[in-house]
Amino acid sequence: MEFERVEIPEEGERVVEEDGELVVPEEPIIPYITGDGIGQDVTPAARTVLDAAAEETGREIHWTEVYAGERAEAEYGELLPDESLEAIRYFNVALKGPLTTPVGTGFRSLNVAIRKELDLYANIRPVYYLDGVPSPVNSPEDMDMVCFREATEDVYSGIEWEAGSEGAAKVREFLNEEMGEDVPADAGIGVKPISEFKTKRLVRKAIKYAVERDRESVTLVHKGNIMKFTEGAFRDWGYELAEEEFPEETITEDELWEEYDGERPSDKVVIKDRIADNMLQQLLTRTDEYGVLAMPNLNGDYLSDAAAGQVGGLGIAPGSNIGDVRGVFEPVHGSAPKYAGQDKVNPTAMILTGRIMFEHFGWFDAAELVKDAVEETIQDRTVTYDIDRQIEGGERVSTSRFAELVAEKIRSA
Ligand code: NAP
Repeated sequence: MEFERVEIPEEGERVVEEDGELVVPEEPIIPYITGDGIGQDVTPAARTVLDAAAEETGREIHWTEVYAGERAEAEYGELLPDESLEAIRYFNVALKGPLTTPVGTGFRSLNVAIRKELDLYANIRPVYYLDGVPSPVNSPEDMDMVCFREATEDVYSGIEWEAGSEGAAKVREFLNEEMGEDVPADAGIGVKPISEFKTKRLVRKAIKYAVERDRESVTLVHKGNIMKFTEGAFRDWGYELAEEEFPEETITEDELWEEYDGERPSDKVVIKDRIADNMLQQLLTRTDEYGVLAMPNLNGDYLSDAAAGQVGGLGIAPGSNIGDVRGVFEPVHGSAPKYAGQDKVNPTAMILTGRIMFEHFGWFDAAELVKDAVEETIQDRTVTYDIDRQIEGGERVSTSRFAELVAEKIRSA
Protein backbone atom coordinates (compact mmCIF):
# COMPACT_ATOMS: atom_id res chain seq x y z
CA MET A 1 0.00 0.00 0.00
CA GLU A 2 1.34 3.43 -0.98
CA PHE A 3 0.36 6.70 0.64
CA GLU A 4 1.08 10.23 -0.47
CA ARG A 5 1.83 11.75 2.93
CA VAL A 6 1.38 8.98 5.50
CA GLU A 7 4.84 7.57 6.11
CA ILE A 8 5.04 3.85 6.71
CA PRO A 9 7.75 3.18 9.33
CA GLU A 10 10.57 0.97 8.14
CA GLU A 11 10.23 -1.27 11.14
CA GLY A 12 7.12 -2.76 12.70
CA GLU A 13 4.21 -4.74 11.30
CA ARG A 14 0.60 -4.09 10.53
CA VAL A 15 -2.20 -5.08 12.90
CA VAL A 16 -4.36 -7.36 10.76
CA GLU A 17 -7.71 -9.09 10.84
CA GLU A 18 -7.89 -12.87 10.53
CA ASP A 19 -11.17 -14.79 10.74
CA GLY A 20 -12.90 -11.88 12.39
CA GLU A 21 -10.22 -11.47 15.09
CA LEU A 22 -7.51 -8.85 15.45
CA VAL A 23 -3.96 -10.18 15.19
CA VAL A 24 -1.49 -7.83 16.88
CA PRO A 25 2.26 -8.27 16.40
CA GLU A 26 4.70 -7.46 19.23
CA GLU A 27 5.94 -4.46 17.22
CA PRO A 28 2.79 -2.98 15.70
CA ILE A 29 2.58 0.07 13.46
CA ILE A 30 0.01 2.36 15.04
CA PRO A 31 -1.33 5.45 13.25
CA TYR A 32 -2.15 8.48 15.38
CA ILE A 33 -4.15 11.62 14.73
CA THR A 34 -2.68 14.43 16.85
CA GLY A 35 -5.98 16.30 17.01
CA ASP A 36 -6.84 20.01 17.18
CA GLY A 37 -6.42 22.38 20.13
CA ILE A 38 -5.04 20.48 23.14
CA GLY A 39 -4.44 17.45 20.91
CA GLN A 40 -0.90 18.83 20.41
CA ASP A 41 -0.42 18.59 24.20
CA VAL A 42 -2.14 15.35 25.18
CA THR A 43 -1.30 13.14 22.20
CA PRO A 44 2.52 13.30 22.55
CA ALA A 45 2.10 12.92 26.33
CA ALA A 46 0.07 9.73 25.87
CA ARG A 47 2.60 8.35 23.40
CA THR A 48 5.40 8.83 25.97
CA VAL A 49 3.48 6.72 28.49
CA LEU A 50 2.31 4.07 26.03
CA ASP A 51 5.84 3.64 24.66
CA ALA A 52 7.13 3.08 28.20
CA ALA A 53 4.47 0.45 28.96
CA ALA A 54 5.04 -1.33 25.66
CA GLU A 55 8.80 -1.44 26.23
CA GLU A 56 8.44 -2.67 29.82
CA THR A 57 6.38 -5.60 28.54
CA GLY A 58 8.81 -6.51 25.74
CA ARG A 59 7.10 -4.74 22.85
CA GLU A 60 7.68 -1.69 20.71
CA ILE A 61 5.20 0.62 19.03
CA HIS A 62 6.06 2.18 15.66
CA TRP A 63 3.91 5.29 15.32
CA THR A 64 2.88 6.97 12.09
CA GLU A 65 1.00 10.24 11.80
CA VAL A 66 -2.31 10.34 9.95
CA TYR A 67 -3.84 13.75 9.33
CA ALA A 68 -7.28 15.10 10.21
CA GLY A 69 -8.58 18.53 11.25
CA GLU A 70 -6.29 21.55 11.26
CA ARG A 71 -3.14 19.55 10.56
CA ALA A 72 -4.83 17.93 7.53
CA GLU A 73 -5.93 21.34 6.28
CA ALA A 74 -2.28 22.43 6.37
CA GLU A 75 -0.96 19.24 4.73
CA TYR A 76 -3.68 18.44 2.19
CA GLY A 77 -5.91 21.53 2.04
CA GLU A 78 -8.88 19.55 3.40
CA LEU A 79 -10.01 18.51 6.85
CA LEU A 80 -10.52 14.79 6.39
CA PRO A 81 -8.52 13.48 3.40
CA ASP A 82 -9.54 10.11 1.93
CA GLU A 83 -5.97 8.97 2.49
CA SER A 84 -6.39 9.31 6.26
CA LEU A 85 -9.45 7.05 6.28
CA GLU A 86 -7.67 4.66 3.93
CA ALA A 87 -4.67 4.50 6.29
CA ILE A 88 -6.86 3.67 9.30
CA ARG A 89 -8.64 1.01 7.24
CA TYR A 90 -5.28 -0.44 6.25
CA PHE A 91 -3.70 -0.41 9.71
CA ASN A 92 -6.99 -1.31 11.47
CA VAL A 93 -6.34 0.84 14.55
CA ALA A 94 -5.63 4.47 15.40
CA LEU A 95 -5.07 6.61 18.48
CA LYS A 96 -6.94 9.84 17.96
CA GLY A 97 -6.82 13.27 19.63
CA PRO A 98 -9.90 15.51 19.73
CA LEU A 99 -11.04 17.41 16.63
CA THR A 100 -12.85 20.75 16.66
CA THR A 101 -16.43 21.01 15.36
CA PRO A 102 -18.01 24.47 15.09
CA VAL A 103 -21.52 24.69 16.60
CA GLY A 104 -24.51 25.18 14.24
CA THR A 105 -23.00 25.99 10.87
CA GLY A 106 -19.80 24.98 9.08
CA PHE A 107 -18.59 21.47 8.41
CA ARG A 108 -20.21 18.49 10.04
CA SER A 109 -18.34 16.72 12.82
CA LEU A 110 -15.14 15.02 11.65
CA ASN A 111 -15.49 12.67 14.60
CA VAL A 112 -18.91 11.53 13.42
CA ALA A 113 -17.60 11.24 9.85
CA ILE A 114 -14.71 9.00 10.94
CA ARG A 115 -17.05 6.73 12.93
CA LYS A 116 -19.50 6.54 10.03
CA GLU A 117 -16.97 6.01 7.23
CA LEU A 118 -15.23 3.22 9.11
CA ASP A 119 -18.48 1.77 10.52
CA LEU A 120 -17.22 2.04 14.10
CA TYR A 121 -20.62 1.27 15.54
CA ALA A 122 -19.81 0.72 19.21
CA ASN A 123 -18.73 3.69 21.26
CA ILE A 124 -17.22 1.97 24.28
CA ARG A 125 -16.32 3.92 27.39
CA PRO A 126 -15.06 2.30 30.57
CA VAL A 127 -15.83 4.42 33.62
CA TYR A 128 -13.95 3.60 36.81
CA TYR A 129 -12.53 5.40 39.79
CA LEU A 130 -8.87 6.30 40.13
CA ASP A 131 -7.84 6.55 43.75
CA GLY A 132 -6.98 10.15 44.64
CA VAL A 133 -9.17 11.86 42.03
CA PRO A 134 -11.65 14.34 43.56
CA SER A 135 -15.27 13.31 42.96
CA PRO A 136 -18.67 14.92 43.68
CA VAL A 137 -20.11 11.71 45.23
CA ASN A 138 -19.53 9.88 48.53
CA SER A 139 -18.45 6.48 47.19
CA PRO A 140 -16.90 7.00 43.75
CA GLU A 141 -15.05 3.69 44.13
CA ASP A 142 -18.38 1.88 43.58
CA MET A 143 -18.24 2.90 39.92
CA ASP A 144 -16.74 0.29 37.61
CA MET A 145 -18.87 0.36 34.52
CA VAL A 146 -18.38 -0.07 30.80
CA CYS A 147 -20.81 1.84 28.58
CA PHE A 148 -21.56 0.40 25.12
CA ARG A 149 -23.30 3.11 23.11
CA GLU A 150 -24.67 2.41 19.63
CA ALA A 151 -23.04 5.02 17.39
CA THR A 152 -24.66 4.90 13.96
CA GLU A 153 -28.43 5.33 14.25
CA ASP A 154 -31.22 6.65 16.53
CA VAL A 155 -32.07 10.39 16.45
CA TYR A 156 -28.38 11.02 15.71
CA SER A 157 -28.65 9.59 12.20
CA GLY A 158 -29.09 13.10 10.80
CA ILE A 159 -32.51 12.53 9.15
CA GLU A 160 -34.23 15.81 10.00
CA TRP A 161 -35.93 18.81 8.40
CA GLU A 162 -35.95 22.40 9.57
CA ALA A 163 -39.29 23.99 10.54
CA GLY A 164 -40.79 25.77 7.52
CA SER A 165 -38.63 23.89 4.98
CA GLU A 166 -39.95 22.09 1.91
CA GLY A 167 -38.81 18.78 3.39
CA ALA A 168 -40.66 19.37 6.66
CA ALA A 169 -43.80 20.33 4.71
CA LYS A 170 -43.64 17.10 2.66
CA VAL A 171 -43.12 14.86 5.66
CA ARG A 172 -45.81 16.67 7.64
CA GLU A 173 -48.26 16.32 4.78
CA PHE A 174 -47.59 12.59 4.61
CA LEU A 175 -47.92 12.18 8.38
CA ASN A 176 -51.08 14.26 8.66
CA GLU A 177 -52.85 13.22 5.46
CA GLU A 178 -51.90 9.56 5.20
CA MET A 179 -51.05 8.50 8.74
CA GLY A 180 -53.69 10.48 10.62
CA GLU A 181 -51.23 12.44 12.75
CA ASP A 182 -51.48 16.08 13.75
CA VAL A 183 -48.02 17.60 13.37
CA PRO A 184 -48.07 21.41 13.70
CA ALA A 185 -47.02 23.49 10.66
CA ASP A 186 -44.19 25.18 12.58
CA ALA A 187 -42.49 21.94 13.73
CA GLY A 188 -39.00 20.82 12.84
CA ILE A 189 -39.10 17.06 12.23
CA GLY A 190 -36.51 14.37 13.00
CA VAL A 191 -36.59 10.61 12.40
CA LYS A 192 -35.39 7.98 14.87
CA PRO A 193 -34.44 4.70 13.17
CA ILE A 194 -33.42 1.82 15.45
CA SER A 195 -32.88 -1.44 13.61
CA GLU A 196 -32.67 -5.08 14.62
CA PHE A 197 -29.31 -5.66 12.91
CA LYS A 198 -27.58 -2.63 14.44
CA THR A 199 -29.06 -3.24 17.88
CA LYS A 200 -28.01 -6.86 17.88
CA ARG A 201 -24.43 -6.24 16.78
CA LEU A 202 -24.03 -3.70 19.61
CA VAL A 203 -25.60 -5.94 22.25
CA ARG A 204 -23.54 -8.89 20.98
CA LYS A 205 -20.36 -6.89 21.63
CA ALA A 206 -21.51 -5.91 25.12
CA ILE A 207 -22.43 -9.49 26.12
CA LYS A 208 -19.25 -10.92 24.63
CA TYR A 209 -17.26 -8.39 26.64
CA ALA A 210 -19.15 -9.24 29.84
CA VAL A 211 -18.62 -12.98 29.33
CA GLU A 212 -14.91 -12.63 28.53
CA ARG A 213 -14.21 -10.22 31.38
CA ASP A 214 -16.31 -11.99 34.04
CA ARG A 215 -18.77 -9.15 34.46
CA GLU A 216 -21.91 -9.88 36.47
CA SER A 217 -24.52 -8.21 34.29
CA VAL A 218 -25.42 -6.43 31.08
CA THR A 219 -28.16 -3.80 31.41
CA LEU A 220 -30.17 -2.69 28.37
CA VAL A 221 -31.03 0.99 28.92
CA HIS A 222 -34.07 2.25 27.00
CA LYS A 223 -37.23 4.39 26.99
CA GLY A 224 -39.36 1.57 25.66
CA ASN A 225 -42.30 2.55 27.85
CA ILE A 226 -42.77 5.63 25.63
CA MET A 227 -41.04 4.81 22.33
CA LYS A 228 -42.20 1.22 21.92
CA PHE A 229 -41.09 0.44 18.38
CA THR A 230 -37.61 1.95 18.65
CA GLU A 231 -36.39 1.90 22.27
CA GLY A 232 -38.77 -0.91 23.24
CA ALA A 233 -37.58 -2.91 20.25
CA PHE A 234 -33.97 -2.26 21.33
CA ARG A 235 -34.75 -3.96 24.64
CA ASP A 236 -36.62 -6.89 23.01
CA TRP A 237 -33.91 -7.49 20.39
CA GLY A 238 -31.30 -7.33 23.14
CA TYR A 239 -32.98 -10.10 25.15
CA GLU A 240 -33.57 -12.08 21.95
CA LEU A 241 -29.87 -11.89 21.02
CA ALA A 242 -28.82 -13.07 24.48
CA GLU A 243 -31.18 -16.06 24.24
CA GLU A 244 -30.19 -16.93 20.65
CA GLU A 245 -26.42 -16.54 20.87
CA PHE A 246 -25.48 -16.82 24.55
CA PRO A 247 -27.98 -19.35 25.99
CA GLU A 248 -25.37 -21.03 28.20
CA GLU A 249 -23.62 -17.90 29.39
CA THR A 250 -26.60 -15.68 30.26
CA ILE A 251 -29.79 -15.65 32.33
CA THR A 252 -32.43 -12.93 32.55
CA GLU A 253 -33.12 -11.07 35.76
CA ASP A 254 -36.50 -12.87 35.98
CA GLU A 255 -34.73 -16.23 35.78
CA LEU A 256 -32.27 -15.08 38.42
CA TRP A 257 -35.16 -14.72 40.89
CA GLU A 258 -37.41 -17.53 39.67
CA GLU A 259 -34.75 -20.21 39.30
CA TYR A 260 -31.82 -19.10 41.44
CA ASP A 261 -33.53 -17.21 44.25
CA GLY A 262 -31.56 -14.06 43.46
CA GLU A 263 -28.14 -15.79 43.81
CA ARG A 264 -26.26 -15.41 40.54
CA PRO A 265 -24.36 -18.55 39.48
CA SER A 266 -20.74 -17.42 39.02
CA ASP A 267 -20.64 -18.56 35.36
CA LYS A 268 -23.73 -16.59 34.26
CA VAL A 269 -24.09 -13.00 33.14
CA VAL A 270 -27.46 -11.54 34.15
CA ILE A 271 -29.26 -9.66 31.35
CA LYS A 272 -31.50 -6.95 32.72
CA ASP A 273 -33.10 -3.76 31.48
CA ARG A 274 -33.78 -0.35 32.97
CA ILE A 275 -35.72 2.65 31.76
CA ALA A 276 -33.24 5.44 31.02
CA ASP A 277 -34.53 8.06 33.48
CA ASN A 278 -34.52 5.51 36.31
CA MET A 279 -31.06 4.41 35.22
CA LEU A 280 -29.75 7.96 35.59
CA GLN A 281 -30.69 7.99 39.26
CA GLN A 282 -29.56 4.39 39.82
CA LEU A 283 -26.13 5.42 38.55
CA LEU A 284 -25.96 7.53 41.70
CA THR A 285 -27.93 5.47 44.21
CA ARG A 286 -27.08 1.83 43.30
CA THR A 287 -23.83 2.30 41.42
CA ASP A 288 -22.29 -1.07 42.26
CA GLU A 289 -25.23 -3.04 40.80
CA TYR A 290 -24.22 -2.17 37.23
CA GLY A 291 -21.23 -3.49 35.27
CA VAL A 292 -21.91 -3.29 31.54
CA LEU A 293 -24.54 -1.02 29.98
CA ALA A 294 -25.80 -1.41 26.38
CA MET A 295 -27.62 1.64 25.06
CA PRO A 296 -29.02 3.30 21.95
CA ASN A 297 -27.13 6.39 20.79
CA LEU A 298 -28.85 9.23 22.70
CA ASN A 299 -29.24 7.39 26.02
CA GLY A 300 -25.63 6.32 25.76
CA ASP A 301 -24.43 9.86 25.19
CA TYR A 302 -26.15 11.20 28.33
CA LEU A 303 -25.51 8.19 30.56
CA SER A 304 -21.81 7.82 29.81
CA ASP A 305 -21.08 11.50 30.50
CA ALA A 306 -23.10 11.37 33.73
CA ALA A 307 -21.17 8.28 34.82
CA ALA A 308 -17.83 9.94 33.96
CA GLY A 309 -18.83 12.99 36.01
CA GLN A 310 -19.26 10.79 39.09
CA VAL A 311 -15.61 9.72 39.02
CA GLY A 312 -13.90 13.01 38.16
CA GLY A 313 -15.01 14.27 34.76
CA LEU A 314 -13.62 15.01 31.34
CA GLY A 315 -9.91 15.33 32.03
CA ILE A 316 -9.73 11.64 32.94
CA ALA A 317 -12.48 10.01 30.81
CA PRO A 318 -11.20 7.65 28.07
CA GLY A 319 -13.18 6.28 25.12
CA SER A 320 -13.08 4.14 21.99
CA ASN A 321 -14.98 3.55 18.75
CA ILE A 322 -15.00 -0.07 17.68
CA GLY A 323 -16.34 -1.82 14.60
CA ASP A 324 -16.29 -5.56 14.00
CA VAL A 325 -12.53 -5.54 14.62
CA ARG A 326 -11.23 -2.09 13.71
CA GLY A 327 -10.83 0.50 16.48
CA VAL A 328 -10.22 4.23 16.79
CA PHE A 329 -9.35 5.19 20.35
CA GLU A 330 -10.09 8.72 21.53
CA PRO A 331 -10.71 10.54 24.81
CA VAL A 332 -14.21 11.77 25.66
CA HIS A 333 -13.10 15.41 25.94
CA GLY A 334 -12.88 17.86 23.06
CA SER A 335 -10.13 20.14 21.80
CA ALA A 336 -10.53 22.80 24.56
CA PRO A 337 -9.06 25.50 22.24
CA LYS A 338 -8.45 28.03 25.03
CA TYR A 339 -5.74 25.76 26.48
CA ALA A 340 -4.17 24.73 23.15
CA GLY A 341 -0.39 24.49 23.16
CA GLN A 342 -0.01 25.61 26.80
CA ASP A 343 1.27 22.26 28.08
CA LYS A 344 -1.31 22.62 30.81
CA VAL A 345 -4.27 20.23 30.48
CA ASN A 346 -4.62 16.76 31.92
CA PRO A 347 -3.38 13.99 29.59
CA THR A 348 -4.94 11.24 31.76
CA ALA A 349 -7.99 10.76 29.49
CA MET A 350 -5.73 10.31 26.47
CA ILE A 351 -3.33 8.03 28.38
CA LEU A 352 -6.20 5.83 29.61
CA THR A 353 -7.58 5.81 26.06
CA GLY A 354 -4.31 4.13 25.14
CA ARG A 355 -4.96 1.68 27.95
CA ILE A 356 -8.23 0.67 26.22
CA MET A 357 -6.29 0.21 22.99
CA PHE A 358 -3.87 -2.10 24.78
CA GLU A 359 -6.78 -4.13 26.18
CA HIS A 360 -8.26 -4.32 22.69
CA PHE A 361 -4.91 -5.80 21.59
CA GLY A 362 -5.00 -8.31 24.45
CA TRP A 363 -2.00 -6.53 26.07
CA PHE A 364 -3.52 -6.70 29.54
CA ASP A 365 -0.14 -6.53 31.33
CA ALA A 366 0.77 -3.24 29.64
CA ALA A 367 -2.76 -1.92 30.24
CA GLU A 368 -2.50 -2.58 33.99
CA LEU A 369 0.93 -0.94 34.16
CA VAL A 370 -0.54 2.21 32.63
CA LYS A 371 -3.49 2.34 35.01
CA ASP A 372 -1.41 1.68 38.13
CA ALA A 373 1.21 4.29 37.20
CA VAL A 374 -1.43 6.97 36.50
CA GLU A 375 -3.14 6.20 39.80
CA GLU A 376 0.13 6.34 41.76
CA THR A 377 1.11 9.64 40.16
CA ILE A 378 -2.23 11.15 41.15
CA GLN A 379 -1.90 9.71 44.67
CA ASP A 380 1.50 11.48 44.90
CA ARG A 381 -0.51 14.67 44.27
CA THR A 382 1.63 15.64 41.30
CA VAL A 383 -1.31 16.62 39.13
CA THR A 384 -2.39 18.99 36.35
CA TYR A 385 -4.37 22.18 37.03
CA ASP A 386 -7.83 20.60 36.85
CA ILE A 387 -7.19 18.18 39.70
CA ASP A 388 -4.89 20.53 41.60
CA ARG A 389 -7.69 23.11 41.93
CA GLN A 390 -9.85 20.53 43.69
CA ILE A 391 -7.40 19.11 46.22
CA GLU A 392 -5.35 20.44 49.12
CA GLY A 393 -1.55 20.38 49.04
CA GLY A 394 -1.03 19.22 45.47
CA GLU A 395 1.93 20.06 43.24
CA ARG A 396 0.71 21.45 39.93
CA VAL A 397 2.63 20.00 36.96
CA SER A 398 2.43 20.46 33.20
CA THR A 399 0.94 17.98 30.71
CA SER A 400 4.35 16.74 29.59
CA ARG A 401 5.75 16.55 33.15
CA PHE A 402 2.76 14.49 34.30
CA ALA A 403 3.36 12.07 31.42
CA GLU A 404 7.08 11.82 32.28
CA LEU A 405 6.24 11.04 35.92
CA VAL A 406 3.82 8.30 34.83
CA ALA A 407 6.41 6.86 32.42
CA GLU A 408 9.05 6.87 35.20
CA LYS A 409 6.70 4.89 37.44
CA ILE A 410 6.15 2.37 34.66
CA ARG A 411 9.90 1.96 34.17
CA SER A 412 10.49 1.46 37.89
CA ALA A 413 7.49 -0.86 38.44
P1 NAP B 1 -13.96 20.35 25.69
O1 NAP B 1 -12.97 20.63 24.63
O2 NAP B 1 -14.00 18.96 26.18
O3 NAP B 1 -13.62 21.32 26.92
C1 NAP B 1 -14.56 21.70 27.90
C2 NAP B 1 -13.87 21.92 29.23
O4 NAP B 1 -13.55 20.65 29.81
C3 NAP B 1 -12.53 22.65 29.18
O5 NAP B 1 -12.68 24.04 29.11
C4 NAP B 1 -11.91 22.18 30.48
O6 NAP B 1 -12.57 22.76 31.62
C5 NAP B 1 -12.33 20.71 30.52
N1 NAP B 1 -11.37 19.83 29.84
C6 NAP B 1 -11.46 19.22 28.63
N2 NAP B 1 -10.40 18.47 28.40
C7 NAP B 1 -9.60 18.58 29.48
C8 NAP B 1 -8.33 18.02 29.83
N3 NAP B 1 -7.68 17.19 29.02
N4 NAP B 1 -7.80 18.38 31.03
C9 NAP B 1 -8.45 19.20 31.85
N5 NAP B 1 -9.65 19.73 31.58
C10 NAP B 1 -10.22 19.44 30.40
O7 NAP B 1 -15.42 20.73 25.24
P2 NAP B 1 -15.95 21.94 24.35
O8 NAP B 1 -15.27 23.22 24.80
O9 NAP B 1 -17.42 21.82 24.41
O10 NAP B 1 -15.49 21.60 22.89
C11 NAP B 1 -14.36 22.16 22.21
C12 NAP B 1 -14.31 21.56 20.80
O11 NAP B 1 -14.04 20.15 20.87
C13 NAP B 1 -15.61 21.69 20.02
O12 NAP B 1 -15.28 22.04 18.69
C14 NAP B 1 -16.22 20.31 20.07
O13 NAP B 1 -17.04 20.04 18.97
C15 NAP B 1 -14.98 19.44 20.05
N6 NAP B 1 -15.19 18.08 20.62
C16 NAP B 1 -14.52 17.08 20.00
C17 NAP B 1 -14.64 15.78 20.51
C18 NAP B 1 -13.87 14.68 19.80
O14 NAP B 1 -12.93 14.96 19.08
N7 NAP B 1 -14.26 13.43 19.99
C19 NAP B 1 -15.40 15.53 21.63
C20 NAP B 1 -16.05 16.59 22.26
C21 NAP B 1 -15.93 17.88 21.75
P3 NAP B 1 -12.14 24.10 32.39
O15 NAP B 1 -12.33 25.21 31.43
O16 NAP B 1 -13.09 24.10 33.54
O17 NAP B 1 -10.73 23.97 32.84
